[in-house]
Amino acid sequence: MPPLHFDNAFLRELPGDPSDVPGPREVTGACHSRVMPTPVAAPRLLAHSAEMAAALGFDADDPAGDGFARVFGGNALLPGMQPWAANYGGHQFGVWAGQLGDGRAISLGEAVTPDGGRWELQLKGAGPTPYSRGADGRAVLRSSIREFLCSEAMHHLGIPTTRALCLVATGEAVVRDMLYDGHPRAEPGAIVCRVAPSFIRFGSFELPAARGDTALLRQLADFTICRDFPHLAGQGEDRYGDWFGEVCERTAQLVAGWMRVGFVHGVMNTDNMSILGLTLDYGPYGWIDDYDPDWTPNTTDASRRRYRHGQQPNVAWWNLSRLAAALAPLFGDIAPLQAGLDRYAATYAEAGRANTAAKLGLAACRDEDVALMQSLQVLLHGAEVDMTLWFRHLIDFDPQRPALQPLHEAFYDESKRRANEPALMDWLARYAGRLADDPLPIAERRDRMRAANPRYVLRNYLAQQAIERAEQGDNGGIHELLDVLRHPYDEQPGREAFARRRPDWARHKPGCSMLSCSS
Ligand code: AMP
Ligand code: MG
Repeated sequence: MPPLHFDNAFLRELPGDPSDVPGPREVTGACHSRVMPTPVAAPRLLAHSAEMAAALGFDADDPAGDGFARVFGGNALLPGMQPWAANYGGHQFGVWAGQLGDGRAISLGEAVTPDGGRWELQLKGAGPTPYSRGADGRAVLRSSIREFLCSEAMHHLGIPTTRALCLVATGEAVVRDMLYDGHPRAEPGAIVCRVAPSFIRFGSFELPAARGDTALLRQLADFTICRDFPHLAGQGEDRYGDWFGEVCERTAQLVAGWMRVGFVHGVMNTDNMSILGLTLDYGPYGWIDDYDPDWTPNTTDASRRRYRHGQQPNVAWWNLSRLAAALAPLFGDIAPLQAGLDRYAATYAEAGRANTAAKLGLAACRDEDVALMQSLQVLLHGAEVDMTLWFRHLIDFDPQRPALQPLHEAFYDESKRRANEPALMDWLARYAGRLADDPLPIAERRDRMRAANPRYVLRNYLAQQAIERAEQGDNGGIHELLDVLRHPYDEQPGREAFARRRPDWARHKPGCSMLSCSS
């Protein structure tokens, strides 16, 4: 393997836990604890992202070597790696949860690449840390496959996300009660190596703020701005204000990206909100099949649905308001924090309009187009229509001859289709009228729609099929999906099966429509 160059700034520049005694503990006055991954019985590479490996400077044949699986299974270190777990807190389901921290994630180092990139490499499931709070620090294969695939799928969709370098089987069993119903079972364990310029979260700031440790809060804010927002040139409070404003802006763009493609994060706790505006911590996430803004894949949230699809823009605002409250001690006057929150709302509104224009193939979103999209969403919900298929087939819509027939594949229920056909035909007629009044030439309209409406998304049942094959020892499903999802906006002849609507058997199946936090 070629040497990677590490510059572990988080470790070097921020205060660390003075104790190295094993076992869970409160860690005050520190941003991290040094901890080694716990070696595993038989590390074996199941899959890797060729793009991510190349970006880090690995040669194409490196991942196949034994050393690679040993390092990314937690059994060996490369020169320059200095493992640590980060300390942070968070609001979980709206309630302050105190110290959380990396209970099963261990960062290996910050790899810097010749092109100036900085990539923190982090093993998820590498064994206990001081933040494990009595849990085992491990991860099961099914959730690791889901995180690995979705990280890369999201990247190829053009939506900001943490990346995944590789997926390694540990050769060890992990016991989980998947549905929390008193049926624990031993499952295969795995480790994902996640990669991001920074894993700092909203909760990283909330913890020192909650403890009244303004000095540490300030140090972490200064560090974050210097390392991760180096373009912010101001001084003092102005700089903090610019920074918070940019976090708000990025978060708005992130959520707008999720809404465009039908992604539901599932656990938007503040410890899962990246300061860089990346999709972070893939747990019980899901993709909308039939359009339903009230849907959440997370069984743990099934009764309140705090993190349902349509609620995500509001929850992101609430999370930013928690971050603002945490940062308030850095400001004499909190007006810049209020301005940042307003910037979130304005950016999200603008991005939502951009989504509407792009998804419907319009040159720009006029005020009446917002209503056009809203009425479509009501119809898609009522008629149980697949979101991805509807918008993808709408690309071929002929305004001269409005017809529902070419969109039939998107319907889950014949009788609902028939019942809603008149209303949908009315909508298509409205849309045809709108297109007739739009300056975009047809070829450009279709290109625009193709770039905004993916053909392939990581449907929950597809991930589940790949998981079931992998649990039987066949990793082919992971590799096929990874490859299809590299080009989500392209037609891929021969791969139509990956674009089909959710089959009936998957409607209520655990893993397909229901996921818990047990992972
Ligand atoms: P999550 O729901 O994945 O965001 O996790 C919330 C918190 O629980 C984080 O502090 C995690 O590190 C911790 N956690 C989750 N699963 C485990 C586990 N198996 N072992 C130790 N800590 C865990
Ligand atoms: Mg988390």
